[in-house]
Amino acid sequence: MLGWKQLAGPRAARRRVSEGYNRSLKQGLFITLEGIDGSGKTTQLHRLETLLTDRGYAVTLAQEPGGTRVGREIRRLLLDAASSDLRPIPELLLYFASRAQNVEEVIQPALREGRVVLADRFTDATVAYQGYGRELGVPAVRQVESVACQGVQPDLTILLEIDIETGVRRALHRNAEQSDDESRMEQESREFHERVAKGYAALLAADPERVKKIDGRGSIDEVATRIEAEVDLFFAKSSAEPGG
Ligand code: ADP
Repeated sequence: MLGWKQLAGPRAARRRVSEGYNRSLKQGLFITLEGIDGSGKTTQLHRLETLLTDRGYAVTLAQEPGGTRVGREIRRLLLDAASSDLRPIPELLLYFASRAQNVEEVIQPALREGRVVLADRFTDATVAYQGYGRELGVPAVRQVESVACQGVQPDLTILLEIDIETGVRRALHRNAEQSDDESRMEQESREFHERVAKGYAALLAADPERVKKIDGRGSIDEVATRIEAEVDLFFAKSSAEPGG
């Protein structure tokens, strides 16, 4: 089966850059935001949604793990502080169960319609959190991915970099303002968060063409400006590549 990534190449990006407003892509583009908890993914996801919508792109949000009804049910189990009895392997399978639903219900249809799909967290997060953080190893994650994701991978991944203390502080502050308790990940040990950060660093080293590191420090506006520059570079580079 031809993967969507092969279909959504530079030609689509060039068409999109040259068409001005109300741009419509023959094939969609998939952009993900990654990074440790509190690095600003969800905040920047909405900023990027506004930016691209203002530029005339049709944008679909495919948030993880709560973007579908099934995903929201699974999210409750995954993030609830009361789920401390959840074991690492069922946790891995639950993340991919939610993602598989997201791929079929939201992501693939949107990409087929030529939309830009934005997600905060995708398989990279599972490599970092379950592969490295829970020490299940990358091969186990890749095995489940091969069934769950049907070849869907991001075109561009923005990796927000922030130190662990700042991330945990921001995440705890956010959770204190929310009514539901989703603090399970923030309660993990420092060693766990260090392993996760190591996992993200390994993903960056393995795929520097796709994964772009962005400094997550500073104000929300400052980070948004950095992301905008990287997204602009991505579109410019895509449109400059030969053979599209
Ligand atoms: P993530 O999705 O990576 O866990 P969030 O976007 O939910 O992170 O941000 C966590 C908390 O930090 C939120 O309360 C958010 O408003 C705040 N926040 C996000 N970006 C910044 C920033 N650049 N500076 C200060 N606070 C931020």
